[in-house]
Amino acid sequence: MTLLENWRNLAYGDGLDDKKKEELWSGYFTIEKGIYEQILANPTEVVEGTVKELAEKYDTEVMIMTGFLDGINESLKGYENPIETMDEDTKVKIEIDPEKLYYNMVEAKATWLYELPQWDAILTEERRTELYREQKASGTVRNTHKIYPNDPCPCGSGKKYKKCCGKNK
Ligand SMILES: [Zn+2]
Repeated sequence: MTLLENWRNLAYGDGLDDKKKEELWSGYFTIEKGIYEQILANPTEVVEGTVKELAEKYDTEVMIMTGFLDGINESLKGYENPIETMDEDTKVKIEIDPEKLYYNMVEAKATWLYELPQWDAILTEERRTELYREQKASGTVRNTHKIYPNDPCPCGSGKKYKKCCGKNK
């Protein structure tokens, strides 16, 4: 099985019970947000290395890094990493296309990511509003990880999702 298949089985498959899956996702969201904070703080940096090296750089596991690379793959500048076939020694690169990334975060309804304060220095408020409207007008909703209303909010507020970022959305 490839890394990606392993990750998808774990995160979306039937192998884990609800509680374990919730733990996996809340851990994932925390790490994902932390990585995005670092990437957005230095948005023109090109981060390169093997999957294993990037996992070490961001202080996480190869499996979580795999999920992250899967999530960011369509928001990169003019290329995609070979996520379907990669193993931990495959060289990958993260160089974001800020407009695509912002748009895709809106599509994934990840309020806690597209509202990160680091965006202020990357895209103007006007441009962000345009991208937001463009995405909403497209009518596309990304099939993202299911978050249940009573789960802890991925933004890290400590509130329930339904009382925080999941409100009226
Ligand atoms: Zn929240």
